[in-house]
Amino acid sequence: MHQLTLAEIARGLADKKFSSEELTKTLLARIAQLDPQLNSFISLTEDLALAQAKAADARRANGESGALLGAPIAHKDLFCTQGIRTSCGSKMLDNFKAPYDATVVAKLAAAGAVTLGKTNMDEFAMGSANESSYYGAVKNPWNLEHVPGGSSGGSAAAVAARLLPAATGTDTGGSIRQPAALTNLTGLKPTYGRVSRWGMIAYASSLDQGGPLARTAEDCAILLQGMAGFDPQDSTSIDEPVPDYSAGLNGSLQGLRIGVPKEYFSAGLDPRIAELIHNSIKELEKLGAVIKEISLPNMQHAIPAYYVIAPAEASSNLSRFDGVRFGYRCEDPKNLEDLYKRSRGEGFGPEVQRRIMVGAYALSAGYYDAYYLKAQKIRRLIKNDFMAAFNEVDIILGPTTPNPAWKLGAKNSDPVAAYLEDVYTITANLAGLPGLSMPAGFVDGLPVGVQLLAPYFQEGRLLNVAHQYQLNTDWHTRTPTGF
Ligand code: GLN
Repeated sequence: MHQLTLAEIARGLADKKFSSEELTKTLLARIAQLDPQLNSFISLTEDLALAQAKAADARRANGESGALLGAPIAHKDLFCTQGIRTSCGSKMLDNFKAPYDATVVAKLAAAGAVTLGKTNMDEFAMGSANESSYYGAVKNPWNLEHVPGGSSGGSAAAVAARLLPAATGTDTGGSIRQPAALTNLTGLKPTYGRVSRWGMIAYASSLDQGGPLARTAEDCAILLQGMAGFDPQDSTSIDEPVPDYSAGLNGSLQGLRIGVPKEYFSAGLDPRIAELIHNSIKELEKLGAVIKEISLPNMQHAIPAYYVIAPAEASSNLSRFDGVRFGYRCEDPKNLEDLYKRSRGEGFGPEVQRRIMVGAYALSAGYYDAYYLKAQKIRRLIKNDFMAAFNEVDIILGPTTPNPAWKLGAKNSDPVAAYLEDVYTITANLAGLPGLSMPAGFVDGLPVGVQLLAPYFQEGRLLNVAHQYQLNTDWHTRTPTGF
């Protein structure tokens, strides 16, 4: 049963082959047995899951249907869940039980999804390896000595190991697409504003966006359908109708114009990944797509711009965790200053502290224009590059990451080496565009992802292309040994 996709589960439940309660119990037992190897969950919510599963079975018995009714999922541990620990992977929020549900959590619960637990993540979603969590690193099910990618690494590892069919993630600079690529999943970062950020603990508010991680594009369509939509509680949520993503999967790719940026194939890219990307291009050509070389000339400035903007916003967002209003409080503070300093010094890990310092510096008087404002100008240039490219092509294709999953600890002494892994993903966040990563093959037994980017609100186009690709390839069906 654990091999079933969301689409297959929906059919099985509708045909009464099994109940949501049976499925939920099977998956909870599998998590108990296998997760100690992976560390992909921070909290399990067995009681809630069984209650939701029984309620979903009752709704089906009453004639209700729906692709998510009775479907087991998990949430990245930065989505607020009422009465349940919402830690953000940090000691700072280790004992925080959210007083309300995030909009995404509430919407999926209303659609009948069953929450099995909260997944591990890089502390405050800062990272590309899922090694910065207060609850310990997550392991990649494809090779337990390697990282699963971050920051939604717990969601990715759990889904890749068939502990459950799908999970939520968030993507500020690649944290859905990058772990999807490194664990052989399909992951989608929607257009900024497509999915509500209300109740999603903020890292960098102008970049953060929630989205689905699953094994197939078909399942991403199902999960995104449950997550997307206007939310008056989020002032950056956009009031655009949500299309029927599943209905759009079957469109033909005949004549689809795919742009391949020449800047993507530079020295930093592992040549074995480049070869797999070229194979995926050939596959899409067979399905009728037309390939065109394009240019994104400002791409080289993306990492420096992102690593000013994201820490700047983080330093402001994380100022609320002061041991008074929110978060961990140190023992026996001598005075107010000591309370602030030690609560934040003890509550935040080293990567979060580094980002807060960089961000506060970039925003300080005298440096604001030189760093933050300059980075925002680069952001506009990057967006303009995409707008020009999308005048010529329907979709942009390239690698999701320059390298396959690296060994645990390999980049810990050099933060910049880890930042460089985001080179292909962060531009979509800077521009607010939707992006998807899907499985495209293996290098040394480790998965490789191909990334597709589309114009604003064209998530349906991304899912359509990925689904057609997956009907004609079987990379996404490969299962890691031992799981
Ligand atoms: N790796 C990037 C960072 O550390 C992106 C993380 C994310 O998307 N949450 O900021």
